[in-house]
Amino acid sequence: MARLRSERPNADVLASYPPLVFVDRVIIQLKAGDGGKGCVSFRREKYVPKGGPDGGDGGDGGSVIAQGEEGMSTLYDLKFHEALRAENGEPGMGSQCHGRNGKDLILRVPPGTQIYDDERDVLVADVGPNERVVIAKGGRGGFGNEHFKGPTNQAPREAQPGEPGHGFRARLELKLIADVGIVGKPNAGKSTLLAALTRATPKIADYPFTTLSPQLGIAEVGSRRLVLADIPGLIEGAADGAGLGHEFLRHIERTRVLVHLLDASPSDGTTPAENYRVVREELKRYSTELGNKPELVVLSKLDLLEEKDRERAVKKLCKELDLDARKDVLAISAAAKLNLKPLLERLWMMVHPTADALPGWKSPAEKQ
Ligand code: GDP
Ligand code: MG
Repeated sequence: MARLRSERPNADVLASYPPLVFVDRVIIQLKAGDGGKGCVSFRREKYVPKGGPDGGDGGDGGSVIAQGEEGMSTLYDLKFHEALRAENGEPGMGSQCHGRNGKDLILRVPPGTQIYDDERDVLVADVGPNERVVIAKGGRGGFGNEHFKGPTNQAPREAQPGEPGHGFRARLELKLIADVGIVGKPNAGKSTLLAALTRATPKIADYPFTTLSPQLGIAEVGSRRLVLADIPGLIEGAADGAGLGHEFLRHIERTRVLVHLLDASPSDGTTPAENYRVVREELKRYSTELGNKPELVVLSKLDLLEEKDRERAVKKLCKELDLDARKDVLAISAAAKLNLKPLLERLWMMVHPTADALPGWKSPAEKQ
């Protein structure tokens, strides 16, 4: 048991885990601006009895343009809009004044976002990083009457209306990979932790769940993202197919890193170390791959312990499980929001072992 579980996992090993893919999805009604109508007008000057036509053209409506924004990683910010529209073009005016063009609407989306016309179920755009794609074109402004003047028609009274801008119900989809699976006995505090760490909850797609489903959340770590899955129903005997646990083990098998959550003071008289072994046994029996997955042991509900007892609890756990307190274990409280940021940073580094450290982040070893 002397293996250091928080050692940075080898990138090749991680690449061999097929990812668990979830879909973040948003529906927004989009509308490009209408073109402004052309103007009918005649020049009026004091000593010119018959001024010619001088009605200007209407301005073009603004388009809706999707832009792949490098720093963005979820559709969360777009979830609060039901409808968005670009500006209409302004009508033309007399004296050959062209109406002002409507402003484009820039829809910033994370790179990799696919935009569908939801009603027709047609892919409109697959937006790459820093790419700009017109997804709804603005209507052209109508010609003013000046445009229709000619040798045979010196006083045209006709002008065009502007064209309507394109509009459609857009479905934005972004595929997310679950990076971290949270395992632990019932009541360890998994759901509470997920709620404390994350703010966005993507829809689960691609496989059916009957009764229970893993809860997912997206945590922001600085400008980066971690997708966490809380896997309920892990119980003794799950590896033999008892209860719902078995089904869920299949799903955590595809996450990259596990958080093994332990209640610091279980109310049923068990100890954190005992509970650790029960769940660990379950994981190992299910598959060696699960058993070998990089894991961070997280002692939860720290707020239930007196401050003086907290360090002792970590030490005791480490001793019993032969873990290194500086590397393998983190003590937190989801309820009191203790140590949640360090937890996310540690997890991010475990999921992205080859990436640069987060700004300002120090590895536990450096901190000592
Ligand atoms: P799960 O079964 O692992 O999902 O556990 P829950 O998140 O449902 O939590 C079980 C119980 O522990 C609930 O009553 C929570 O309010 C409580 N709980 C969870 N985290 C904490 C914590 O950090 N501190 C305290 N005091 N209670 C917690
Ligand atoms: Mg739960």
